[in-house]
Amino acid sequence: MMPDFRLRQREYLLEISRAMSARLDLSSLLKLILESAVELLAGQAGLITLRVVDKFAPKASIGLPIQAVHLFEPLWRDLDSQNQSEEPQDIDISLRLALASKAAGVAMRQVVALPLEIGKETIGYIFIFRTRGAAFSANDRQVLSAFANQAAIAVQNARLYQQVTAERERLNTIIENSGDGVMMLNRYRIIQSWNKALENMTGIPAEQAIGRPCYEVLNLKTAQGVSICHTACPLLHPAEDGRLYAEGRHQRADGMFITLADNYSPLVDEEGQTTQVIANVRDMTRLREAEELKQTLLSVISHELKTPVSIIKGYAGTLAREDANWDKQTLAEGLGVIEEEADRLDRLINNLLEASRLQAGGLKLNLSYLNLADMAGALVEKLQTTTEKHTFAVDFPENFPLVRGDFERLREVLTNLLGNAIKYSPDGGLIIVGGRVDSVQHKLRLYVSDKGIGIPRAEQERIFDRFHRVDNRLARQTPGAGLGLYLVKAVVEAHGGKIWVESTPGQGSTFWVELPLGDETTRGYTL
Ligand code: ADP
Repeated sequence: MMPDFRLRQREYLLEISRAMSARLDLSSLLKLILESAVELLAGQAGLITLRVVDKFAPKASIGLPIQAVHLFEPLWRDLDSQNQSEEPQDIDISLRLALASKAAGVAMRQVVALPLEIGKETIGYIFIFRTRGAAFSANDRQVLSAFANQAAIAVQNARLYQQVTAERERLNTIIENSGDGVMMLNRYRIIQSWNKALENMTGIPAEQAIGRPCYEVLNLKTAQGVSICHTACPLLHPAEDGRLYAEGRHQRADGMFITLADNYSPLVDEEGQTTQVIANVRDMTRLREAEELKQTLLSVISHELKTPVSIIKGYAGTLAREDANWDKQTLAEGLGVIEEEADRLDRLINNLLEASRLQAGGLKLNLSYLNLADMAGALVEKLQTTTEKHTFAVDFPENFPLVRGDFERLREVLTNLLGNAIKYSPDGGLIIVGGRVDSVQHKLRLYVSDKGIGIPRAEQERIFDRFHRVDNRLARQTPGAGLGLYLVKAVVEAHGGKIWVESTPGQGSTFWVELPLGDETTRGYTL
């Protein structure tokens, strides 16, 4: 071989090894290796096998019909991946080449094979074929071997890179699809990643969260509105037991509050510096609500059930005293109180049962055509006998249309609204129950208005929640479990309607019930 040719060869080798080390994509790297090796050795075709577990498998080829590649398998069949640096024997390999070429229908006459080695490990073989000309010389082998060493390193790098990338993608998929919220923070608490579960929980899309500090995005607060993220972030003030945990309320963009529990796991470098923090976020809203509800239920039961029971017991005990000789009127009055309190107990128990039934999702309506004006008139007549302080008015237009609904349940609705009007106007005053027709929208409205204590603006939606009572002196003195309006709302909604209140504290309240008319009234019914 000419010395200047050797020089050019060396330069070429150098150039290729640079190009190879810059490539991390395995398939394009293998292609480059083959193209270069074939050119270097003036061959016409080439093939690379790589070790897969304990066997070699073809991974790239040039100059061979792709469907024929597997026919060359005898060339590497006995190459033991455990037995390093084994070079196939020439005679044997020539024979195998001749057979494989025949089977594949290609005319490959010469082959040279060299292992790709990393240290003592053979990671694959490179085969170069000639269709004509001289056999591969010792010099060819030498050149290819220098080249193979470089190629092996490049292949190993690309494989490692591929593994790391695959691992990272696997991890990302796990995080992305985890049922729990997972976010990654840098050491300055800036959000680096934000998974789907977090998007669903908070309604904040990843692109809006990433790049912002977590204390701004989550902004957890106590029930009293004190910021936990700004004053008690566990990453800045770890607990004594080392646990990095925070729980607080997050307000979503739609105004809803959710309770989130965050567990933080910092990743530290060799110097003990935090590089990243993985935060696992759980939605505890339902759990906390259920706990709160249990507490409320217990206190409601203990308070609301105990009071009538002790009154009943007191009266019954007194009336039954053997040493007393009660006159008829005292007896009647005492028994009247007992009956009243028993009724109260009965109502409360029914409400509790109804509320739990509602929660289980079953509210059945018994439909017929109803005259709500008549229903209101009858109720007012009955209620007028129970109070002296209040006066009642019934205000329905002539020919108020019939509505399709459940008689018992709609009567419950009016009874509840009228009962509240009486309860929450302790100084008496006018209570009006009336109706309006909106023929354009095909709807009708009922209203109950009073001149009572009224409801502050902030409470006007919440009074329809289970067990919610406005905290004031009157409410504390007035019996009630905060279930009435919750049940009223459920019944109205089951009729396809809605309910709301207009009120000015100190002046009174008007509750409005809107129901659809005609065919639409059947919408939303469970029959
Ligand atoms: P309860 O009367 O048993 O407490 P409700 O669900 O019927 O339960 O009412 C919830 C709360 O709404 C009451 O505790 C009261 O604070 C408020 N509220 C209801 N109706 C009226 C009204 N007409 N005027 C003022 N406040 C009312």
